[in-house]
Amino acid sequence: MRFETDAIHAGQEPEATTGAVTVPIYATSTFVQDAPGRHRGYEYSRTHNPTRHALEVALAALEGVAPNTGGGAVATASGMAATALIGYLLKPGDHVLLPNDAYGGTFRFFARVLADQGVAWSVVDMTDRRLLETAVRSETRLVWVETPTNPFLRLVDIEHAATVAHAQDASLVVDNTFATPYLQHPLAAGADVVLHSTTKYLGGHSDTVGGALVTGRPELDERFRFLLNAAGPVPGPFDAWLVLRGIKTLAVRMERHCANAARVAAFLSDHPVVSEVFYPGLSRHSQHELATRQMAGFGGMVSFRAAGGAGAAQRVASSTRLFLLAESLGGVESLIEVPAAMTHASVRGTALEVPDDLVRLSVGLEHIDDLLEDLDQALHA
Ligand SMILES: *Cc1c(COP(=O)(O)O)cnc(C)c1O
Repeated sequence: MRFETDAIHAGQEPEATTGAVTVPIYATSTFVQDAPGRHRGYEYSRTHNPTRHALEVALAALEGVAPNTGGGAVATASGMAATALIGYLLKPGDHVLLPNDAYGGTFRFFARVLADQGVAWSVVDMTDRRLLETAVRSETRLVWVETPTNPFLRLVDIEHAATVAHAQDASLVVDNTFATPYLQHPLAAGADVVLHSTTKYLGGHSDTVGGALVTGRPELDERFRFLLNAAGPVPGPFDAWLVLRGIKTLAVRMERHCANAARVAAFLSDHPVVSEVFYPGLSRHSQHELATRQMAGFGGMVSFRAAGGAGAAQRVASSTRLFLLAESLGGVESLIEVPAAMTHASVRGTALEVPDDLVRLSVGLEHIDDLLEDLDQALHA
């Protein structure tokens, strides 16, 4: 089936007993057994839960993993829980290569949690193919790619990164949170694992926190399933259901996110108090050609630098009325934030530090004229 159809139907057949059209929220911790050790596929909700299972089937379909190939998805309690499961694949002495522009929490996990357990890490500008090629070491087991990056919306060539990682027998993980599977298919480009914070576009309504890992490699899928049960960071059935409901409208939401963000980027590009705009859909974005090749659209995130410096960035972010001053992204409502003081405060003083005049927008689904008027009055405040 095609994407829009899978989003609504994959894993979501009507419930057999009652005919309920939507997947029920199976709020139960345990399941009755017909005889000791003889059950109907479900024993205990940390191990298997039908609502979570439906979400996992849908996620695998959206990332292009065909049924019965051994690949699949696991849904986790948050995006960071998905990252932590990947951490369990690593041993002391292993090395992880991270991008120099990434979600702050990812960096924090490797630098301040796994480093204490003997897993080495380094960062490199992965937008530069030569730098990426020379940064991989013989101990590198994992190359971590985020594309588009957060907050600069730079791109990494996934196919090239996969070739580089595989030449060293390392796995390639792609954090596909910003692009979503509607705009980008990392597994088809050679990635071994796709990671999502389903908190963002997949959930889409800023009402739940969740994550997922999707892989086309059977041995990795089996390992993730084991780790999810062994370590236990599962989403509850209601959270799994909220993400499943969000996914149904992902295609139409992404179309409008992209259209609104393109208008916002064009508006900011012409604005006198904006010094620089970051959006892969702009023809003068340094990687616009790669974006056109690798993505089916340019996404809903736009960043810009305020010409008046840090004070001006803080002023704009405090003066919008529709754009809500908040961390996170990917919901129906537009959000504004200053990464240096908010989402990226934890990477101050590191290679991932961001300038304090940077403003990041998650462009929502409100009417575009209301959004542009709101930004215009805030930029003049
Ligand atoms: C939010 C986010 C995460 C972490 O996900 P949580 O659901 O907040 O734990 C990871 N990567 C990216 C790109 C994100 O935006």
